Amino acid sequence: MSEYTAPLADMLFTLEHVADLPGLATLPGFEDADPEFVTGLLEEAGRFASEVLSPLNAVGDQQHSRLVDGGVVTPDGFARAYQAYTEAGWGAVGHPTQHGGAGLPQTVAVAVHEMGASANLAFSLCPTLSDGGIEALAQHGSPELCDTYLEPLVTGRITATMDLTEPQAGSDLAAIRTLATPQGDGSYRLSGQKIFITYGDHDLTDNIVHLVLARTPDAPAGSRGISLFLVPKQLAGPNGELGQRNDMNVVSLENKLGIHASPTCVMAYGENEGAVGYLVGEENQGLRQMFTMMNRERIIVGLQGLGVGERAYQAATEYARERRQGRALGLEASDGTASPIADHVDVRRTLLTMRAQTEAMRCLLYLSAAEMDRSFHHPDADERARAADAVALLTPITKAWLSDTGTQVASAAMQVHGGVGYVEETGVAQYLRDARITSIYEGTNGIQAMDLVLRKVAMGEGAVLRAHLAKLRDMQADADASGDELSDAARCLGDALDALDRAGDWLVQAIAREPRSAAAGATPFLEMLGSTTGGALLIHCATAAIKCRGADASTTFLDAKVATARFYAAQLLPRATALLPSIIAGAEPLDAIDPGDF
Ligand SMILES: Cc1cc2nc3c(=O)[nH]c(=O)nc-3n(C[C@H](O)[C@H](O)[C@H](O)COP(=O)(O)OP(=O)(O)OC[C@H]3O[C@@H](n4cnc5c(N)ncnc54)[C@H](O)[C@@H]3O)c2cc1C
Repeated sequence: MSEYTAPLADMLFTLEHVADLPGLATLPGFEDADPEFVTGLLEEAGRFASEVLSPLNAVGDQQHSRLVDGGVVTPDGFARAYQAYTEAGWGAVGHPTQHGGAGLPQTVAVAVHEMGASANLAFSLCPTLSDGGIEALAQHGSPELCDTYLEPLVTGRITATMDLTEPQAGSDLAAIRTLATPQGDGSYRLSGQKIFITYGDHDLTDNIVHLVLARTPDAPAGSRGISLFLVPKQLAGPNGELGQRNDMNVVSLENKLGIHASPTCVMAYGENEGAVGYLVGEENQGLRQMFTMMNRERIIVGLQGLGVGERAYQAATEYARERRQGRALGLEASDGTASPIADHVDVRRTLLTMRAQTEAMRCLLYLSAAEMDRSFHHPDADERARAADAVALLTPITKAWLSDTGTQVASAAMQVHGGVGYVEETGVAQYLRDARITSIYEGTNGIQAMDLVLRKVAMGEGAVLRAHLAKLRDMQADADASGDELSDAARCLGDALDALDRAGDWLVQAIAREPRSAAAGATPFLEMLGSTTGGALLIHCATAAIKCRGADASTTFLDAKVATARFYAAQLLPRATALLPSIIAGAEPLDAIDPGDF
C-alpha cells in the first residue's frame, strides 16, 4: 500500500502563478496569507495528512461506519483523528477570525482540504461539509443562530450536514415533501424522511446541526415553496449547554461501493412530537440559501476528484518504477534484466496523462477558489462582480470536470497496476471505488452540464463565457511569445479556443431558439471547456516556469512543468477540440430512437 506525500512544490507553484496568492495576500483581511507563512502551514498540513489521516484510509474502508443502538460508530481511530484535526485548526483555516477561524483565504483552505481528500476521502467529507453549512449560516442566518452555532462549527466542536434528498426528490428538489409547521414561538416542528445524508450521525462530536430543506403548510408548490431550517441533534439548554435530544433518528445506513467510513444515513425527522427546527433566512427562500452551501460544496467535490487523482497518480508512479516486466523497446538493459514497467512507452503515456490531468485539475481548482476570494474580499466593486461571475461559470466545471477526471485518473492507476490493482491489496481499488461517487452527489455531473449551458453560458448572452475565453487567449499569446519551446502548445491551445468560440456562439443561439438542442450538447461542452481551461492554465504555468528558470539553479521541477504542459497540449487538447461536432449536433441524433425501443 503506497504512502501519501503532499505534492507541495506543485501546490505552491500553482498557488503563486494561477491563484496569485501574493495578490490575495494584499486584499483586506488576508494580510496573514504571505507566501512564507502559507508554505509553513501547508508543510504542516501535509505532515498531518500523511501521518494521521492516511494510515486510517484503509482501516475505514475495511471497517465501515456502523449503526449501533441507533447511533453511528465511526471506524477505529477516526474520533482521535478528528480531535487532532480540530485541535490543529485545519477546519478553521478559511473562516473569519470573528467566528474563531484563522482568517486565511479560501484558496489556502482548499489546498489544505485537497491534502485531506488525498489522504482519506471518507474522513474529509465530515469537516468539509461543515464549510458549506458555515457559509450558508453566515450569509443567511439570524444573529441568534449565528451566535449559537457559528463558532462551534468553525472550531469543529459540532459538524453540519446538508439534508436535501428524499426518495422522490433527488435532482428535482421541487418535489421535496418534508413538512415544517410553525409553533408560534419562532420555531418550527419538522417531519419527514431524508435519504443519503452524509455523516447524518457520528461519534466525532457531541452535536450535529442538520440544514434541512422543507416546506411550510401553506407554501407555494414547487421550488418557490421551499425553506431552509437548522435542526440540531441536541437542542440547546437554557444556558447554552447541550439539552434534550431532538426528535430525529437514523433509520439505516446505506451499503455502498466506496467511501465506506462515511456514514450515508436514512434520517427520520419528527416521528413523535416533531423535530424542532429554526428558519434560516426567510420562508420560501430556502433553495437560494441552500445554493450558498451547495456552491461551496461543489468546489469541495471538485477537490475530492483532484485529491483522489493525486493519490492514485502517486501510487501508480511508485508501482511502475518497481514492477519489472519484459524489455522496454529502445531502453533494454544490457544484462538482459526485465525493465521497470515505467520504461514501457505505453505505460509512460498513461503516467504522463495522469500527471498532466492532475496538475490541470489543481490549476482549475485553485483558480476557482481564488476567484471566490476576490468576489468577497476585493475592495473594488467591479472586480468583485467580475469575480462572482467567474465563480458562477467555473463552479459547475470544477465540480464535474474534476470529479470525472479524478475518477479517470483512479481508473488509470488500476490499469498501471495490472491484475494486482483489481484485487484489494494495493489500495488503488479503494481509490477508484471512493472516487466514483464524486460524479454523482452534490448535483450529478449531467445536472452540472445543464447548469453550465442553460444558466451560466446564457449569462449576458455569452458575455461571461467570452470574458473567460479572452483570459485563456491572453495565456496563449504569452506562451507564444515565450519562445520556441511552447509554440506548438500555443497552437494547439489556439485550435481548442477556436472550437470553444464556435461552440459557445452556437449554444447562445440554441439556448434561445431550441433549448433541448443546447442541452443535448451540454456534457461534451462541459468536457471541452474543463479540459481546455485546465490545459490553458497548465500552459500558463509552463510560461511562468520558463521565466523562473533563469533565476533558479535547480531546474528539474520547472523543466517537468514545461514538459507536462507540452504533453497536455499535444495529446489532450486535440481531444477537447474534437468535441465540437458532438456539441453542435443538436438533439435530433439523441431523439432518433425512442427509449421504449432501446
Ligand atoms: C454516498 C452518497 C452521499 C450523498 N450525500 C448526500 C447528502 O449529504 N445530502 C443530500 O441531500 N443528498 C446526498 N446524496 C444524494 C445525491 O445528491 C443524489 O443521489 C443526487 O443528487 C442524484 O439524485 P438521485 O439519486 O435521486 O438521482 P436522479 O435525480 O433520479 O437522477 C438519475 C439520473 O438522471 C439524470 N437526471 C435527473 N434529472 C435530470 C434533468 N433534469 N436533466 C438531465 N438529467 C437528469 C441524473 O443526471 C442521473 O444521471 C448522496 C448520495 C450518495 C449516493
